[in-house]
Amino acid sequence: MTTSQRHKILLLGGTTEAREIADVLAHCTESDAMISLAGRTSRPATFPIPVRIGGFGGIDGLASFLRENAFDLLINATHPYADRMWRNAIEAAKLANIPMVALHRPPWAPSDNDKWIQVESVAGAIAALGRRKARNVFLPLGHKELIKFESVPRHRYLIRAIETFDPPLNLPKASYIKARPPFDKASELELLKKHKIDVMIVKNSGGSASYAKIVAARELGIEVIVIGRPFVPDIDHARSVAEVVQAAVHALGLPAKRVA
Ligand code: NAP
Repeated sequence: MTTSQRHKILLLGGTTEAREIADVLAHCTESDAMISLAGRTSRPATFPIPVRIGGFGGIDGLASFLRENAFDLLINATHPYADRMWRNAIEAAKLANIPMVALHRPPWAPSDNDKWIQVESVAGAIAALGRRKARNVFLPLGHKELIKFESVPRHRYLIRAIETFDPPLNLPKASYIKARPPFDKASELELLKKHKIDVMIVKNSGGSASYAKIVAARELGIEVIVIGRPFVPDIDHARSVAEVVQAAVHALGLPAKRVA
């Protein structure tokens, strides 16, 4: 197959799985792929395929980008809480008249020994902290969620994020850890014990890269306030990287062995 006949793929990233999909696409002799990142971190991970960074300007902007660059396939591997990008991707692929293959990680489910409180929003999570005593709260969340905790400064917070904040959050009793997944159980146990954490607030991200904190909380009997997913996509979606690759092969009509 000559270069001009290669299929063009746009991969929407922001997850560990998107990195794995990029690795597969880099080795695919039948396609030219590019990954798109939101630009939430100043030093994004490196990729073996070309990278573009920043919003497209809504549904129409993404549809134009797909048309103007003659993409044949959109692979949506954005984060399960990036609901705007999800909706934009679905509509833009329709407008550009190309197929979309989407990865939606199954959420985590509580086991019998988990002390989960399930809430629908950050406001619900803040309410679940209670009004009376100050607590030691682990917050492995993004900036959009963290900013809302400025309304309850009385708790002691341990904030873990990929970036530090400039200006810092207006939380007098907060300490910060800058780290990027994956995390393992031993280090999560150590962290929770060291900071005497009695409650954590998490998104139900699913996947294995950040599941260790859930296991560590279970082992230590720590309460976990789980902010539910913003939406469930009403389309067929893959549940793993292998399923994404399979669906992409099918959508482009490629022989499986050329991609996988
Ligand atoms: P969002 O509300 O779905 O996206 C907001 C806008 O950012 C989109 O409308 C789009 O701008 C741009 N955008 C998002 N993903 C993009 C991508 N891959 N390439 C280019 N542009 C992209 O998502 P969010 O504000 O980033 O985050 C919402 C939640 O998801 C937060 O809880 C966050 O912690 C979590 N999350 C997001 C990401 C991520 O990569 N987005 C990664 C990890 C966690 P235009 O409309 O201008 O195209």
